[in-house]
Amino acid sequence: MKRVRLLVLNAALGALDYKLATGIAVEAGSVVIAPLGPRTVIGVVWDEGRLPGTEVDASKLRALREVVSVPPISAPLRRLIEWTAEYYCAPLASVARMVLSSGGALGGPTTTTEYRLVEGAVPERMTPQRETAIDLLKGEQGILRELAEISGVSTGVLRGLVNQGVIEPVTVAIDRPYPAANADFHQPALSDDQMRVARTLVKAVEKRAFEPFLLDGVTGSGKTETYFEPVAEALRMGRQVLVLLPEIALTENFLTRFEQRFGAAPVQWHSSLKSSERRRAWRAISEGSAQVIVGARSALFLPYANLGLIVVDEAHEISFKQDDGVRYNARDVSVMRARFEKVPVVLASATPALESLHMANSGTYTKLELPSRFGGAQLPKIKLIDLTLHKPGAGRWLAQPLVEGIEVRLEAGEQSLLFLNRRGYAPLTLCRNCGHRFQCPNCSAWLVEHRLSRRLSCHHCGLEGPVPESCPECGEADCLVACGPGVERIADEVGELFPDARVEVATSDTLGSPERAAEFIAKAEAKAIDVIVGTQLVTKGFHFPELTLVGVVDADLGLEGGDLRAAERTYQQVAQVAGRAGRGSKPGEVLIQTRHPEAAVIAALADGDRDGFYEAETEARRDAGAPPFGRWAAIILSSEDEREVRDSATRMGHSRPQLDDVMILGPAPAPMALLRNRYRYRFLINARRSANLQAVLRDWLDVQDFPPGMRVGVDVDPYSFV
Ligand code: ADP
Ligand code: ZN
Repeated sequence: MKRVRLLVLNAALGALDYKLATGIAVEAGSVVIAPLGPRTVIGVVWDEGRLPGTEVDASKLRALREVVSVPPISAPLRRLIEWTAEYYCAPLASVARMVLSSGGALGGPTTTTEYRLVEGAVPERMTPQRETAIDLLKGEQGILRELAEISGVSTGVLRGLVNQGVIEPVTVAIDRPYPAANADFHQPALSDDQMRVARTLVKAVEKRAFEPFLLDGVTGSGKTETYFEPVAEALRMGRQVLVLLPEIALTENFLTRFEQRFGAAPVQWHSSLKSSERRRAWRAISEGSAQVIVGARSALFLPYANLGLIVVDEAHEISFKQDDGVRYNARDVSVMRARFEKVPVVLASATPALESLHMANSGTYTKLELPSRFGGAQLPKIKLIDLTLHKPGAGRWLAQPLVEGIEVRLEAGEQSLLFLNRRGYAPLTLCRNCGHRFQCPNCSAWLVEHRLSRRLSCHHCGLEGPVPESCPECGEADCLVACGPGVERIADEVGELFPDARVEVATSDTLGSPERAAEFIAKAEAKAIDVIVGTQLVTKGFHFPELTLVGVVDADLGLEGGDLRAAERTYQQVAQVAGRAGRGSKPGEVLIQTRHPEAAVIAALADGDRDGFYEAETEARRDAGAPPFGRWAAIILSSEDEREVRDSATRMGHSRPQLDDVMILGPAPAPMALLRNRYRYRFLINARRSANLQAVLRDWLDVQDFPPGMRVGVDVDPYSFV
């Protein structure tokens, strides 16, 4: 009898031993189904001796049920699972779940039924709804629910049309292959700088060895076209490429450019994929037939059969950090994956994370630079508007110089972009009569008014409700006042100042899906928008040649609060949004509104002194023992019972490790002391490089005895400090 140890996909169970029934053959990495009590569980056969667990007597072992017909999880990926769990203090099973993220891929049917119009067919009786459906469904194919969404009629109406033979079912293989990308479909002429960088990267792909690169290129330098060359080389070698993007909203732009370059679309991976698409992608990736995969951070854990290159675009973006479950940073894990897979990895950015820049400057990463914009476009001129001198009027947020800037662009038929990192109309609503402030009952947060959807909403727990007519506290009618601006309010202000201007709000509320993002891009490119008012969503990736003015409504916003990376993030956001201006033939201008023109980060932005900023910030980090010189971690305890969490945190505080190279702050109520109805207490841990941070955390947590309702979140290298 042979005994195998499984990593089962259940964090509470971890490792379990089974025996092999005769006729079943497995190897390390095999995905298997095993009996567990009256049910079954999915597991991965693990390498002998690498998973701790209790030895069960051979007579008690149950036999594996079956081996799932997918390729075994490769050794490099198994090592990545182990590393990620270890580094982020997460259960192995939770990391393995991210690998086996398509339940459908592990079984289930191989075909599905989709529907499409039968050309020329008409129903016996035409109704307005049927007419709309027939009109809107030309050229479409999908399951009924999707067709209902496209046409805006109910699935009932569509079913009627199916019965009448106007819409027909088609059987499609879920696992049909993806169209092939052609490495030489359309190669653009590269600039000398691009060529130099591309050659280095192509060579690295040919070498089939681990090498990390920082591609540090100014906004508009053509980083995408440049890293497409090593992508092409990987294609020629028959190897797979993973391109990570920070936001789905950016995918659209990438897809277009990819298709122009390679003649076919890449395979996408993100949270809004249908389950049949997930299955198709997962299987093609694991079999090696998917060539180039573009995705959000979760694509990092897919079971690539034959990976040849990883690219992380906009690598400084904080959305690469996952803030729940396994709290990993896809930028850092991608470097580890490349190391285990023995392939090059490219971190591309115009405003690299300080940690990445430090690695490049110290020679750990190879630094590749694109110092100027492609095609001779100039970087924009940046000017500060001192809000203490140019005060906007009451209830206004745009100072006169910025208003004039917009006016000039409107007259010239050019576009402006106003950046404010606040969704909705106003961040705070209060009652003029009694001073009541609208607060979320579940979170330590104000409710944000959204005028477009006429709701008050909590940006933390998603609670939403209509804006009341009268104050719930004092009952006074029509007494609510909006305090402070959000993007919608800025859009209103522009509309009042320039009634003829076509203003568009661009946030995750308005550009939430790939389709809506595509619509927005098409509109902006067709010059059907004069002024874009947007959040951080519009700071990166977009390339609108007619956009010549960028206005930063409140550069000080990001500097408030106790975030360790506030200065760096402000620098990155403003530099990125500034990078949207003047990308075409017309020069761009950036106007930054601030109350603190003397603040180091603001002054550096105005002077275009990137090196100066990074140097100063590096010194500040060194003094504070912050990354990359020291490390931070956070532990958040949360419970629905405030007393319980306070007591647990206090008890845990008493057992804190006493070490020279580890400083532990707390416990204290977290800045978000209440989140989704859970009370939260926080420890912040600052460790010198000499400390083994993970071991310290694990040893400390292992001896705690938490009550059942307690949740313990460990965040290594935290980005969010709420
Ligand atoms: P970045 O990502 O570095 O900000 P982009 O990759 O968006 O810059 O490039 C800026 C613009 O220049 C894009 O419209 C891109 O298509 C164009 N571009 C870059 N390199 C080339 C090239 N070699 N040939 C033609 N167009 C290019
Ligand atoms: Zn809330």
